[in-house]
Amino acid sequence: QAKADGRDTLCFFDPNVQTAVKARAALETELRQGIKKDQFVLHFQPQMDDGRLVGAEALIRWRHPKRGLVSPSEFIPLAEEIGQILPLGNWVLETACIQMAAWARQPELAHLTLAVNVSARQFLQSDFVANVLAVLERTGADPKKLKLELTESIFANNVPAIIAKMNELKAAGLRFSLDDFGIGYSSLSYLKHLPLSQLKIDKSFVQHVLTDSKDATIARAIVALGQGLDLAVIAEGIETEAQRLFFADLGCRSYQGYLFGHAIPANEFAISAIGRERL
Ligand code: C2E
Ligand code: MG
Ligand code: MG
Ligand code: MG
Repeated sequence: QAKADGRDTLCFFDPNVQTAVKARAALETELRQGIKKDQFVLHFQPQMDDGRLVGAEALIRWRHPKRGLVSPSEFIPLAEEIGQILPLGNWVLETACIQMAAWARQPELAHLTLAVNVSARQFLQSDFVANVLAVLERTGADPKKLKLELTESIFANNVPAIIAKMNELKAAGLRFSLDDFGIGYSSLSYLKHLPLSQLKIDKSFVQHVLTDSKDATIARAIVALGQGLDLAVIAEGIETEAQRLFFADLGCRSYQGYLFGHAIPANEFAISAIGRERL
C-alpha cells in the first residue's frame, strides 16, 4: 500500500527516518546548550618535521555530560549547518591562541606552531579577518606560529575574495595549509594563485599507500606538486614506519599521525613535548 504512494510518502512514514530526525533535533538542542555551557575542549596532535616535533594541530572534542567525549565528525557538520560553527569556531581560535601564548612562555615549547581548522562558513564571514587579528592581539599569541587549515570546499565560493582575505592574514604573519588535499573539488589552477604555505595530503591516500598502487601514485603526484610549486607538504594519518618511509623516500619529511602521537589534552601534550626536547 505505502509503495503505491511513491517514494516520498514511503520515506515520510519510515520509522527509521523519524528516529533519525528526532535524534538530529535532540543533538541540535544539546549542541546549542553545550556551547552555552562551555562543554568543549581542544586536544593537540603532534606535527613532525625532519624528525622533530615542530607543532600541533588543535582538534576539538565535545565533553558531553552523558555521551562522554564526542568526536568532531559527529557534531561539526551539524554545527556548520545550523550556524553554530561561528561561536564554536571563535572559541577554538581563542582557546588555541591562549594555549600558544602559554607555550611561548616555556622555553621548551616556545618554538611550537599551532594549526587550527577553519570551516568555510567561518572563513567567509565578513568580520573573519578582524576577528582573528583581535584574538591574536587579545591573547598575545604570535601570528607567525598560527597556521589556519582550510579545505578545498572553500573554493566553491568567490575565489578572488578568498585570496584577498588570505593575503590580509598573511600580511599579519599567518600561514595557510590546505587540509584533506586531494579529496575535494578544487581545481589545480587555484594552487598557483592561493597564498598557501602547505598542502596536507589527505589520510585516505596515506592509509593504503603501500598496498594500493593508485593511492601511491596520487600520493607521489601530490608530493611532486608541492615540491614544484614551492609548497610544504605534510602527510596526515601516518600510522606505520613503513608509511613514513614511503614519504621520506619522496623527500616528504613532514608528518602527522598516530605513529607520532594521538591528539591529547594540553597538559599531556606539554609533558610529552618537553620530554622529546630533553631526549
Ligand atoms: P582533520 O582536520 O583532517 O584532522 C585530522 C583527523 O585525523 C583528526 O580526527 C585526527 O585525530 C585524525 N588522525 C590523525 N592521525 C591519524 C592517524 O594516524 N590515523 C587515523 N585513522 N586518523 C588520524 P578528528 O580529531 O576526529 O577530527 C576530524 C575532523 O573534524 C578534522 O579533520 C576536521 O575536519 C574537523 N575538526 C576538528 N576540530 C575542528 C575545529 O576546531 N574546527 C573545525 N571547523 N573542524 C574541526
Ligand atoms: Mg585539519
Ligand atoms: Mg585532514
Ligand atoms: Mg578531515
